[in-house]
Amino acid sequence: MFTYTARPARIVFGHGTLERVRDEVERLGRSRALVLAGPDLAESGDRVEKVLGPLAVGRFDGAAMHTPVEVTEQALALLREAGADCVVAVGGGSTTGLAKALAVRTGVDQVILPTTYAGSEVTPVLGETADGVKTTRSSPDILPETVIYDVELSRELPVPIAVTSGVNALAHAVEALYSPDANPVIDGMALDAIERLARGLRGLAEDTLEARTELLQGAWLAGTCLGAVGMGLHHKLCHTLGGSFGLPHAPTHTVVLPHVMAYNAAAAPDAMRRIADALGATDAPTAVYDLIVEAGGPTSLQELGLAESDLDRAAELATAAPYPNPAEPTRDGVVRLLRRAWAGERPAPTGVSVLDQLTAQVVSTFDGTPDPRLRVLLQDLVPRLHAFAIDNDLTQDEWQHGIDFLTRTGQICDATRQEFVLLSDTLGLSSVVDVLTNSRTPDTTPSAVLGPFYVDGPPELEQGADIAAGMPGTPLWVDVLITDTDDKPVAEAVVDVWQSNEDGFYDVQLPDLEGPVLRGRLRTDRDGRLRFWSILPSAYPIPSDGPVGAMLAATERHPYRAPHLHFMIAAEGCRRLITQLFVVGGKYLDSDAVFGVKDDLIVNFEPRTGPTPDGRAVDGEWRRLDFTFQIARR
Ligand code: NAD
Repeated sequence: MFTYTARPARIVFGHGTLERVRDEVERLGRSRALVLAGPDLAESGDRVEKVLGPLAVGRFDGAAMHTPVEVTEQALALLREAGADCVVAVGGGSTTGLAKALAVRTGVDQVILPTTYAGSEVTPVLGETADGVKTTRSSPDILPETVIYDVELSRELPVPIAVTSGVNALAHAVEALYSPDANPVIDGMALDAIERLARGLRGLAEDTLEARTELLQGAWLAGTCLGAVGMGLHHKLCHTLGGSFGLPHAPTHTVVLPHVMAYNAAAAPDAMRRIADALGATDAPTAVYDLIVEAGGPTSLQELGLAESDLDRAAELATAAPYPNPAEPTRDGVVRLLRRAWAGERPAPTGVSVLDQLTAQVVSTFDGTPDPRLRVLLQDLVPRLHAFAIDNDLTQDEWQHGIDFLTRTGQICDATRQEFVLLSDTLGLSSVVDVLTNSRTPDTTPSAVLGPFYVDGPPELEQGADIAAGMPGTPLWVDVLITDTDDKPVAEAVVDVWQSNEDGFYDVQLPDLEGPVLRGRLRTDRDGRLRFWSILPSAYPIPSDGPVGAMLAATERHPYRAPHLHFMIAAEGCRRLITQLFVVGGKYLDSDAVFGVKDDLIVNFEPRTGPTPDGRAVDGEWRRLDFTFQIARR
């Protein structure tokens, strides 16, 4: 079902129609006109006065944006003083607003000569501002009786204003197509308006008469849509940004429209398809964005003067009360929309069937994968990769940059330089996998990432050995117990340990060093215990001379790891545990570059002096680490 109410207004459209203004006033049976002209339209006001001749009984040039009531009061006094029985307004939406405000107060007739594409002249709606608050009302008395569209007059509108005003009109037609009040009459007008406005906007580069004609006709049709059916999120948002943050009307419409369209695209696929067809494109939101860029219009709320800190508040205001819109306007969703609009990003293409088909086609090529797990992983990976590219509107250059980055990451890898592990670590992926692993055996000691410095087959060492082999540093006595989750000691567990030296380097990073140092393989005794000497590990930067380092630098992240000692524990019949113990009070515990720190793994490396457990002579301070690892039986 639908309802449709035609608005009774007389439209005069053509070239040089300004000359008919006297006839049109007389046609209404009026003889005393107050002429209203916008501040930039004094000359046009003069021409209107001249044509009206003796019918012009007064003149007011002070119309202002958003129809402030104090301006209306001044004009009202003039209207009464002059004994006017009609108003003739020449200007944009602001001047039309003033004419409407006077008409609704006095019942005088209105003849409007629009010079912008705002569309107000064909709507029964009036927005007025009193004490900084804008309120809107609708009444048949507000609708102007006669509108004279003069293409020649509209040609005086400077091109930059014509661009934003044209997109303002486009917004009326777009929102009409997904309005709950949509009907075939308005749909037809909206689609015709979109075609004309798009042609007009494209033609503004050469500013031809045809372009101006298309724009003015499109503006009339779009304005008629605005006057006939309810608008959605776009108009609500622009109203909020104009009313509460003082942003200019038409430029705000221009920036916001493509983003609201993208927001609504999935919920209004039919409207979007029709809009895209009218624009001669495959995707409506990006087509509108590209049209604006091509016409030289503004694309970011930032350039219109909105502070980034206002985005949350704007979203809150715009979503405070419910109103019809294809996609529910949620606060978070609108904040995201505004962020893109603020930054001037091109909206991501949506509902582009070509891309959907491409993704589906690639996914289907894995249908026959014999290994079911491999099939699941690949068929999930592909749509996520595609979505990443689509949602971020990835450019060819950005894709190439990513490929080059991965190529360099591979090229720098060798037996001891594990740049891919580092990449996974710094992106937090290693920790994600680690947390998943850990969740399978919740009663054990938490695991931690392997890191890039593990070397398989470390030297076998006896209990009590010193893995530091005389390297300088604070001596560290490590005494650990390994049990299962029933607290039973695990004998003969193979434990690989590795760590950095006092300066934060691993042996593999020190080419002058002979043989492996600060790493070793030990075995627990009958009681599940393991004791050895080492030195206190220190904080260190992960290798930052490769692609991963470049990524950290580009994002202003530091490359440091909190000081720690690595353990890899394997025992017959048990699950392997890979973990790290962090030095309590160490640096970077809160901002570890690879996200490896877990509270349960931060332990006391207790400062001691005096006799050592195995009688080794140590001058000054040494440290003692006692810890019990719990590993899971299989
Ligand atoms: P506007 O009337 O303020 O005009 C925009 C700018 O263009 C102004 O600086 C104006 O002086 C200038 N201008 C207009 N014509 C010109 C010309 N021929 N030559 C040189 N400069 C010219 O703004 P607008 O975008 O036309 O309308 C916006 C106002 O209209 C807002 O207050 C908005 O709320 C209202 N509006 C109301 C409705 C409604 O249905 N009630 C619909 C649309 C807009």
